[in-house]
Amino acid sequence: MHISEILSALGIKETNSGTSTGTQWLSTTGTEFCSYTPVDGSVLAKVTMTDAAGYQAVVGQANAAFAEWRMWPAPKRGEVVRQIGEALRKNKDALGRLVSYEMGKSLQEGWGEVQEMIDIADFAVGLSRQLYGLTIHSERPMHRMYEQWHPLGIVGIISAFNFPVAVWSWNSFIAWVCGDVCIWKPSEKTPLTALACFNIVSDILKANNVPEGVNCLVSGGREVGEMLTNDVRVPLISATGSTRMGKAIAAVVGQRLGKSLLELGGNNAIIISKEADLNMALIGCVFGAVGTAGQRCTTTRRIIIHESVYDTFKEKLVAAYQQLVIGNPLDEKSHVGPLIDKDAVAAYLHSIEAVKAEGGNELVAGGVLEGAGYESGCYVKPCIFEVQNSFKIVQHETFAPILYIMKYAKLEEAIAMQNDVPQGLSSAIFTLNMREAETFLSHKGSDCGIANVNIGTSGAEIGGAFGGEKETGGGRESGSDSWKAYMRRQTNTLNWGDSLPLAQGIKFTV
Ligand code: NAD
Repeated sequence: MHISEILSALGIKETNSGTSTGTQWLSTTGTEFCSYTPVDGSVLAKVTMTDAAGYQAVVGQANAAFAEWRMWPAPKRGEVVRQIGEALRKNKDALGRLVSYEMGKSLQEGWGEVQEMIDIADFAVGLSRQLYGLTIHSERPMHRMYEQWHPLGIVGIISAFNFPVAVWSWNSFIAWVCGDVCIWKPSEKTPLTALACFNIVSDILKANNVPEGVNCLVSGGREVGEMLTNDVRVPLISATGSTRMGKAIAAVVGQRLGKSLLELGGNNAIIISKEADLNMALIGCVFGAVGTAGQRCTTTRRIIIHESVYDTFKEKLVAAYQQLVIGNPLDEKSHVGPLIDKDAVAAYLHSIEAVKAEGGNELVAGGVLEGAGYESGCYVKPCIFEVQNSFKIVQHETFAPILYIMKYAKLEEAIAMQNDVPQGLSSAIFTLNMREAETFLSHKGSDCGIANVNIGTSGAEIGGAFGGEKETGGGRESGSDSWKAYMRRQTNTLNWGDSLPLAQGIKFTV
């Protein structure tokens, strides 16, 4: 399927409005920006940025929609999400291909991302009948206490380039069944996949008479994101991106005492024990390190290897890296596609210089690929360095396929190294020893939001709560009880007796 067919199948034109209230595209006076594909560097299409007037129109519509949408029974809202899941099933091929083209991840991963949207839709449908609150026994006679969960209002979703569509669905599908309305600001690096999602969803919204404004889109860079974060009418900002962005957003939203749900950078490690199944571990490490060209928040960036298997595992890693095919992500033979843009390539090269300057030992050399098939200038070689965990550059998340390996003697030391970084997203241990596995998962084990045994750091399922600690931001999205972040809790006490006893036995008479 040629890219022009994919774009037209998904309703993308040469120049597109980037501002929508769900079924209507607004024309704004904002400047145009281009979507470049890192696959070959060409321009896919142009998008008009949301300007201040367009933003005000969107928020006004979203507010009006909320007044109506919150009164729909949650299972009816779930029914709309169910139909959206069906529409995504029908469009999985085209949308997955566009994700690959625009973002540069492999076709398998592009389809996988759309599958994740379908999975979260299914989850949200079930959830729409399970927004449970607790009942509590009152200390007063003939009193009933309970909790209920109410929708929050407008949820502002700011997303990163590397999961250009799934993160929107994690947030909006759950927020919608909770009764919220959403305004999405996708990454300025991947605007077209967002437009495609809106085109796929719009017929479903129309057919179900969903109030205009439940699903809104604003497009552009940081400035457009800041319109959302500064806006007191937006009670929750759910932001996915770098720690730098998260700190800026937390300060702005915190200043107005809004809520923020932050999903930020990771610096994920795998511990390889002397009792690991090394062949299994190898697949987990290599997929984790080079998948999505090292541009997943859960990418494996560090491997901490027991000294007794260090040389053997190192050799296996180096041999595996020599087999990697780097090339067009739409070609199923490629293991590694391009980085998102030239800035990302510059950051990759800078980190390689930095690790060398700190004394890192190069095991597999990096570099930028040139020549036929690599014209975009965004294809780089995955590389490996032997390092110390304390190196400044190792403490930092470089969003590229640079893998750091290090040695340990005792499990406690390995866990301390794994935890000794500012970020706390994903972690893993490969071991067949139950005591080691349980130690890693215990209170004295990994300090990350995600801790796996005999599975790599990347590739989470939607059923669990996803997110991390420390500089990863503390947010939880997707499954489990993450829905609570999209609602406000109300405690209700109801007196069905004929007197007014006060709590704590306080006497008051008039
Ligand atoms: P980025 O921080 O450059 O941008 C993310 C989004 O934030 C974009 O939409 C951008 O326009 C917006 N933005 C940036 N500064 C802003 C500000 N001050 N106010 C409002 N909006 C602002 O990140 P990126 O390069 O697109 O993505 C890569 C980063 O995202 C990595 O650090 C990665 O680990 C992280 N990430 C984390 C998760 C997670 O779940 N923890 C998932 C995906 C990506």
